[in-house]
Amino acid sequence: MSKVILVAPLAGWSTPLDEAPDAVFADRMLGDGVAIDPTGATLYAPCDGELIAVPASRHAVTLRTDEGAEILLHVGIDTVGLAGEGFEALVQQGQRVRSGDPLLRFDLDLLARRAPSVLTPVLVLEGSGFTIARRSQDREVSVGEFLMELVPVGAVAEASGKGPEMGAVVSRRVVVALEHGIHARPAAVLAGGLKGRAAQVTLVAHGKEASAHSTTSLMTLGVRKGDEVEIRATGADAAAAVEAVEAALLKEKGGAPARGGGTASAAGGASPAGGAPAVGGAPAAGGAPAAGGASATGGASVAGVARAADASALRGVIASRGLAVGNTLQLSRPEISVKEDGAGVSHENAELDRARALVRDRLQAAGNSGPAATREIMGAHLELLDDPELIGSARAAIAHGKSAGFGWRQAIRATVDALRALQDARMAERVDDLLDLESQVLGALSGTVGTSTVRELPDKTILIARELLPSQLVALDSSRLAGICMAAGGPTSHVAILAAAMGIPVLVAMGEALLAIADGTAVVLDAEKGVLQVDPDRGQLAGAVGELDRRRGRHAAEQAAAQRECRTADGTRIEVFANLGSVTEAEIAVRNGAEGCGLLRTEFLFLERQSPPDEDEQAGQYQHIATALAGRPLILRTLDIGGDKPIPYLPLPHEDNPALGLRGVRTSLWRPDLLRVQLRAALRIQPESQARIMLPMITDPAEIRTVRNMLDEERRALGLSTPIQLGVMIETPAAAVMSDRIAAEADFISIGTNDLTQYTLAMDRGHSELAARLDALHPAVLRLIARTAAAAVSHGRTIGVCGGLASDPTAAPILIGLGVQELSMVPSVIPQLKALIGSVSLDTCRELARQALELESSEEVRALALRMGTSAGEVAPA
Ligand code: PEP
Ligand code: MG
Repeated sequence: MSKVILVAPLAGWSTPLDEAPDAVFADRMLGDGVAIDPTGATLYAPCDGELIAVPASRHAVTLRTDEGAEILLHVGIDTVGLAGEGFEALVQQGQRVRSGDPLLRFDLDLLARRAPSVLTPVLVLEGSGFTIARRSQDREVSVGEFLMELVPVGAVAEASGKGPEMGAVVSRRVVVALEHGIHARPAAVLAGGLKGRAAQVTLVAHGKEASAHSTTSLMTLGVRKGDEVEIRATGADAAAAVEAVEAALLKEKGGAPARGGGTASAAGGASPAGGAPAVGGAPAAGGAPAAGGASATGGASVAGVARAADASALRGVIASRGLAVGNTLQLSRPEISVKEDGAGVSHENAELDRARALVRDRLQAAGNSGPAATREIMGAHLELLDDPELIGSARAAIAHGKSAGFGWRQAIRATVDALRALQDARMAERVDDLLDLESQVLGALSGTVGTSTVRELPDKTILIARELLPSQLVALDSSRLAGICMAAGGPTSHVAILAAAMGIPVLVAMGEALLAIADGTAVVLDAEKGVLQVDPDRGQLAGAVGELDRRRGRHAAEQAAAQRECRTADGTRIEVFANLGSVTEAEIAVRNGAEGCGLLRTEFLFLERQSPPDEDEQAGQYQHIATALAGRPLILRTLDIGGDKPIPYLPLPHEDNPALGLRGVRTSLWRPDLLRVQLRAALRIQPESQARIMLPMITDPAEIRTVRNMLDEERRALGLSTPIQLGVMIETPAAAVMSDRIAAEADFISIGTNDLTQYTLAMDRGHSELAARLDALHPAVLRLIARTAAAAVSHGRTIGVCGGLASDPTAAPILIGLGVQELSMVPSVIPQLKALIGSVSLDTCRELARQALELESSEEVRALALRMGTSAGEVAPA
């Protein structure tokens, strides 16, 4: 048996990988190993081998042993961003080294200051065919001391030695209870659940055998609900592995095991631990669709897949209002050509690893901070990316002289063919996931954008996608984009906010039927009624074009009056501000009559960055926006990273529930170095009196005090004498309930209704099934707004609303009636809302608000506004 001994490449403390503050390592996405907290500053070879990767950034090396084990040594966390600063390579890629040879020298002090952590993972890479039999952990190690013993996958049990003898097979028959059989996600969950186990597990069904460690292999079994499968395992923890796989096969998503059953048997060795499985457990968690009345926002009767009465129309939930006529274009995968011949086995293997690592980073970033649906999809993609069968098959092609791209494509296409041959609609859907991953890896190999991209947009494009990322949207030519339809997504997702800022009508949660619409199909997107009319007849088309004209006429009149100071019909001053994410938006907002900026989403300014923007860069951008606002107030919100905002330059630790994790000010206090840079940049805005700073996602007053102290320190360091105003967003129910205490600490208050609604109603703002019910006019939210407004007024603080509710013409009069003095909205709706506010009296608003607080649902509130004639209806296109 060819085992490999690794010695410590670094002096320090050897700890479990779980300690690494990066999910890529802690979740063993690249492979298993240990992390060393270094005391030395030279990295040595842990064994003999060939250096198959020494990146230009010199922060890591990968070496392959003669036995084929691939070892990654990664100095510090997130150190790639240092671009080589503080590192000196003592070796070159391709070189052979002996155990104990020096590889890299690094500046430990610099790393300690500049990297999130100096912990240095030492990994055996997933897919290279080796697993760890023994490791030295939770103790001090010196260079050259034993660190790990590697053995070929499946060759032997972990050295703890408990469990069946080598070769003993534990097996069990199970009737699969998964509603949709073993499709991609359960397959990914199954394979993922076996990570870190020593046992080798296979599933046998329909006369075929598949490795349970491989998502693709599992999918090709074509197992459906009710099919009997046999689980077979060998290795030290075989019995526990069988238990785990059985539980996964009997369990419905999010629920308890659907039922016990199946037979338990042991073949050729030990019997499974735990005795007979439970019979007659809880029924499978139901998938009953959300009961839906009429949608408050869009009129869709049921969230998710929804067909309108007219078979050629699809319903969706309104994410950005407006009307558009155009032709469809699906967000498509680029066809990337690959050369067949490789440039050497080690080069191509290293290329494949580099590309997979790049894609992994992107998926990780998107999944970490994306909404639940995105996280799930990204998780399944990550499993496919690390699938041992796919990697093995690509490596086999490379070993035969093929290029990495050719090998990867061949591996994917073989699986795609196998899935298509199953003639099972659900499995066929997974073909899409695989092809998507193919493009991403090929894109990363060829240096083109790795995610799905669109071709050049024709004029008046209605873009169709399952879901868009903010970074994908900002990469498009918005001047040619007439509208967006998404099969999934939620109305207050950040991509929807961006689209609204661009004045682009958007429907979300339209269901899979949307994706069947052929490119170039004529459509009318009515994001006032929540309907996409597919292939409209001449009458429908003419009607829509006529309506667009009428709206343009009305919009022109509102636009002409937009520069007037905003007052209600009886003269009460209401400040109408704009939500901004760029200089261009600031210019548009001023043209539309914005009286200031009530929310600058600073994280949107640097969406596509791979490294954090420095102080000068930030100060420059902020100043541009301040200048574009020509003296009008600028409320700059500190970075709101986390939740559904993937920011590539700040990967957050893995969180099971990112919406409840590191978000907003919490992330800033977790990385005070980034916050201080941002505070300093904000303090540099001229004139000094123009800018105010606002903190997102406050939970309690102590957070404000902490940031105020930091702000005072930075201000003094810059020699500034006048304090800058520090306000907060009320986005959590805790902050709303504590608004009296918060108002005592903050200089001003603005309510973020998007998050406040998400957290009050306990409905994910990106959840497509709940999208139609996620309405900020729910009386529970209104009561929290009323309470906050009263607290602010009693402390003499300005009270604003900067969430999506402020842009809703039905809501604006209610908010004014609740005491709100400043509304910060999407720039494109400013002219219309100014006209609307000018047409209602404060008394009417107060009466409307009083009645709304007594109602029981958002539908009732909207009906009330309609009855009282304060609902303005449609919004003109930008
Ligand atoms: C909000 O939550 O209402 C808000 C304005 O912040 P964001 O949408 O950026 O989370
Ligand atoms: Mg928010």
